[in-house]
Order: sequence, then C-alpha cells, then structure tokens
Amino acid sequence: MTAALQAVGLSRRFGGLLAVSDVSLELSVGELHAVIGPNGAGKSTLVNLLAGEIPPTSGSVRIDGQDVTGWSAWRIARCGIGRSFQRTNLMPDMTVLENARLAVPARHLWRRLRPNHPSMANARSALARVGLADLTDRIAATLSHGQLRQLEIGVALALQPKVLLLDEPLAGMGPEESEAFAGLLRELAQDHAVLLVEHDMDVVFSVAHRMTVMLDGRVLARGAPDEIRASPAVRDAYLGHDV
Ligand code: ADP
Ligand code: MG
Repeated sequence: MTAALQAVGLSRRFGGLLAVSDVSLELSVGELHAVIGPNGAGKSTLVNLLAGEIPPTSGSVRIDGQDVTGWSAWRIARCGIGRSFQRTNLMPDMTVLENARLAVPARHLWRRLRPNHPSMANARSALARVGLADLTDRIAATLSHGQLRQLEIGVALALQPKVLLLDEPLAGMGPEESEAFAGLLRELAQDHAVLLVEHDMDVVFSVAHRMTVMLDGRVLARGAPDEIRASPAVRDAYLGHDV
C-alpha cells in the first residue's frame, strides 16, 4: 500500500542549527501517528516541512507516491494535506462558517478572494464533523478556547484532506475539553492519516497507534505506544520515570 504521506531523510537547517535532521516518516489513512519530544526538538519544523510551509534543506516528501518536495503550501493543501497551527490562524471577526469557507494556507490569504475556496456544503460538513454544527453563525472571537481549537480542525477539514497535521491542538485545554477532543481525534483517524504533535501525554498515549520521539531534530525512538513508554532512552530524554 502506498503511504498517504511519506517523508524520506528530511532535514532543515536554520543557519548553524539543524532543526530537523534526517527524519523519515510514513502516514497512512486509519492511523494516528503522534510526534512527541521536548520544546525545540524540531516537531513544528517537521510539520512545516510536511505541509510545504518551508522547503527542506535535504530529503523528500511524497503524497500518494508523488514527489511534492519544494511545492508551495497551497499546492500541497490541494493534494489533500490539511493542517492546524501551533498558534491560531483564524479570522476572529468572521463567523465560524466564514472561517471554514475561507480555509487556505496562511501565506496565501489572497487566494481567499478566488472562487475555488471550499464550498458551503464542504464547510458545513467539516464543522459538523468537529461538533460545531449549531455554532456556524457565531463570530469566531466569541467561541470558548476549546471551541476555537475545534474550529481550527474544522477549517483544516473544509478542504477535505486525506492527511491531517495537527500541531499541539490541545494547548491550553482543561481536562474535560481534552477528553472530548481525544474522542474527536480517534474519530478523525478512522478516515484520515493523522499526525499529532502534542504535549498532553495522557491524550497522546490514549489515541496514538504509532509514535515518533524527537530530540535535537532527530528521531530518538519510534514504535507502538507501549514500546515508547517502556523505552529507557525516551524516559531519560523526555517522559521521565513516572508516566
Ligand atoms: P518544537 O516544535 O519541537 O518545539 P521547533 O521545530 O519549533 O521545535 O524548533 C526547533 C528548533 O529550530 C528550535 O531551536 C527553534 O528555535 C529553531 N527554529 C524553528 N524555526 C526557526 C526559524 N524560522 N528560524 C530559525 N530557527 C528556527
Ligand atoms: Mg512546536
């Protein structure tokens, strides 16, 4: 089976810093792949490389077998890669529905003026999927924190992606919101390939099928959640000894 998204030997240098170093990764529909690691490990840079926000210094990215290395974020989004950002990318003064209809990568806001942005039906069904069907006419700025995070995923879903790249979607959520969100992540993983960057280890271990642990830009460990939890190297570098 061809992976929905495949990265081979991805590296990204920022001046003297190798933020991502020789990372290979495959994402398949039906699988939630969690990427964890300490701050500065290179997780967001990896997401940015996969989404085409920044080009890799070396390595390649394939979508359904097609080499898309160096393609723009918008072109990659059109190939079925949806993403959320660690920092929010919403239009606070617009309604929930308008945000979903105007879903495009951040660098290409001008494309929102084009007629080929997501249809009303796609936007509505994306919002229903994330539990916001009753709030489509609300101004985004009036949503709760948890609802805003749901909306971010809804915006990503409006382009009907096969792959979802989620960078810390649970940041700032309380335990109850996090639990509900974990349910949504499990559902989304049934018919998407999901890459989840997240620090909430309770949620990560409850939703992940596979995990990659990053440290200093490199892959420190990879495996099933039980293998990661049991890995002495991962415990020493990140998890500690009481997870
Ligand atoms: P994480 O998401 O795991 O916390 P990041 O990918 O954000 O890590 O950052 C990895 C390293 O790359 C950090 O040292 C960060 O300061 C650096 N970095 C990230 N983006 C840039 C950039 N645009 N320019 C320079 N350095 C960057
Ligand atoms: Mg980050």
